[in-house]
Amino acid sequence: MMKKVLLLDVDEVICFSGFLFYINEFLGSSYVIDDFEDYYLDEVAIPKDRFIEFNKFIANKNLYENAEILPRAVEVIKKLNEVYDIYICSSCINPFDVKNSGKLFKDKYNFLYELLPFISPEKYIFTNAKSLINADIQIDDRLDNLNSNVSQKILFPSYHNHGVSNKELLEKGVLRAGDDWRLGWDEVERILLN
Ligand SMILES: [Mg+2]
Repeated sequence: MMKKVLLLDVDEVICFSGFLFYINEFLGSSYVIDDFEDYYLDEVAIPKDRFIEFNKFIANKNLYENAEILPRAVEVIKKLNEVYDIYICSSCINPFDVKNSGKLFKDKYNFLYELLPFISPEKYIFTNAKSLINADIQIDDRLDNLNSNVSQKILFPSYHNHGVSNKELLEKGVLRAGDDWRLGWDEVERILLN
């Protein structure tokens, strides 16, 4: 039997990139991810008059060097990979610094290559146009990214999506994998492997 195709997001699903690490380094602050409710951390944390300076500061950093892998992510992805045909589906554009985003493609590629050696790089889809991809299952932390062509849509819990209402989820046919990112992979395992 053909395996079902599963689209898997990276940021906030497999890992938190080093973005927050560098925000803290830049500001001398000690923010943690749960201090935020908005997706774009820099928009909230970085004062407007230091935004250009901050973008220059992070332009040469590897955001995946200090990435925090979410609890049980690799272990559960490995199990899922036995049952499903997994494609990585992830954006690499920093909307606040599009010109320098090429480095993100490379750094994310190298990161995934090391972290998930059992998924072929030929199955990396780096795009913002997630809605063009057909699949059976999709896991993403942003409701907007969950594709209407996909039959089983799973919202991965994250600091920025607590506000998504059950009504919205129902309307879009989306299942929420719990409400705590620390337990998100336990919940995905329960949904997809039982
Ligand atoms: Mg994401």
